[in-house]
Amino acid sequence: MTGPGPALDGPLHFDAVVIGAGTAGMTAAIRLAQSGARVCVVAKGVGSTHLAAGTIDVLGRIDGEERVTEPGAALERLIASRPDHPYALLGSGVVADSLSWFFETAAASSPRGYEYVGGLERNMLLPTAVGALRPSTLVPITMAAGEASALHRAAIVGTHALRDFHPSLCAANLREAGIEARPVFLELELERADMSALGIARRFDDPAWRALFCAQLSPALRSEDHVGLPAMLGLRDPHAALADLERRLGRRVFEIPTLPPSVPGMRLYEILRRALRSAGGRLVIGAEVVAAERHGERIAAVATRAAGRESHYAAPWFVLASGGLASGGIELDSSWRTSERVLGLPLRGVPDAGEPRFVPDFFAEQPLGRVGVAVDPQLRAEGAENVVVAGAALPGQAPWREGCGEGVALASGYRAAQVIVRESGAGAPAGARAT
Ligand SMILES: Cc1cc2nc3c(=O)[nH]c(=O)nc-3n(C[C@H](O)[C@H](O)[C@H](O)COP(=O)(O)OP(=O)(O)OC[C@H]3O[C@@H](n4cnc5c(N)ncnc54)[C@H](O)[C@@H]3O)c2cc1C
Repeated sequence: MTGPGPALDGPLHFDAVVIGAGTAGMTAAIRLAQSGARVCVVAKGVGSTHLAAGTIDVLGRIDGEERVTEPGAALERLIASRPDHPYALLGSGVVADSLSWFFETAAASSPRGYEYVGGLERNMLLPTAVGALRPSTLVPITMAAGEASALHRAAIVGTHALRDFHPSLCAANLREAGIEARPVFLELELERADMSALGIARRFDDPAWRALFCAQLSPALRSEDHVGLPAMLGLRDPHAALADLERRLGRRVFEIPTLPPSVPGMRLYEILRRALRSAGGRLVIGAEVVAAERHGERIAAVATRAAGRESHYAAPWFVLASGGLASGGIELDSSWRTSERVLGLPLRGVPDAGEPRFVPDFFAEQPLGRVGVAVDPQLRAEGAENVVVAGAALPGQAPWREGCGEGVALASGYRAAQVIVRESGAGAPAGARAT
């Protein structure tokens, strides 16, 4: 084992160990567990789910095209024009299969009625917190009524208790897009500790609070047929909260994603966590991988450090789903060196020495933007034949620019599990069925 700290116990043995609890790692782990493998997820913390919108964006933009309306068709064009993109390694069939699997999994593990809607035929255009329209492929039912094509007259509701959401700005930008939108401001009586989307979401779980909220909002509404609220309609039973508000207000209601923390993202994580648990998988959060035991081209075990204690996890297969630059899975240090932080694997997409890493225009294509772990067509890491890579750790993608982060995470997590089940044959993962 290389790395700091003494080992206190012998290693825990699994058929596969997944590093990272974002959409990619959780998807790979659930699929492996559903195939009969003994699987454990170890993660430093939760993933980008808690920061992003809680939607599954397969493809929102591709080079030279303004906004993708038909993600299925655009995916084929992207695959043809960018053979280095993760979608080109995965193929459109895997993307479609992963979405079907996600529908089923979300339906089985969601709070009652909280389903995802959409599909590869058409992206939905939904308002962001600043009133821009963002293309998404699968969206939670609580956002669906905000689809721009059906949105004519909308009240955009904000509150002093949520300082990061400005209904006037959101409504003004929606008006620029041709939607008659009007800001409404409510003064809500809340404890200081509850003044966040998460704090207010907990209040919305309570029907009595919803009744008070609607009693305050109703007189402020005019002829609007839609009401847009920051995404905070409860954690326990958001569909019931949505239905209750629609009944009380007599209008369609929709959630608008907020700045972090993201309530719909937390719901997505909870759906994945429940699915993993019901498939028999194990999840250890707060366990940072600090060292790995290597035998030639294979990883034999990883060591995690949590609360000053070191634990070892051994397996014939590992999934590296530790994210990209945003999650610290890949790091650019102060001496301009880029490295994969968890297993020290080789990278692809690093600009040559002396070349710029970034350009000043934030929205432009960034030279370092497509960096990731070098993989073969089966997503296996170069130099570590039993490590399959998934999610934002893969090279060739620009998640924000292309609006493909969650789609790549889902499809590659799904594919990583398939690769492991196929490669390990009849013996291991123990009891796994090849799919
Ligand atoms: C604020 C924000 C907004 C976004 N908005 C969009 C959007 O609108 N559209 C879009 O398509 N994409 C968006 N993305 C990108 C998208 O969310 C990500 O590309 C995608 O979720 C990545 O998933 P992942 O599972 O690969 O990695 P992550 O979700 O980043 O998870 C990485 C996991 O690895 C763990 N980890 C890292 N290092 C270690 C270690 N040493 N030991 C153990 N665990 C480790 C982390 O704790 C975490 O659990 C956004 C991302 C962010 C942060």
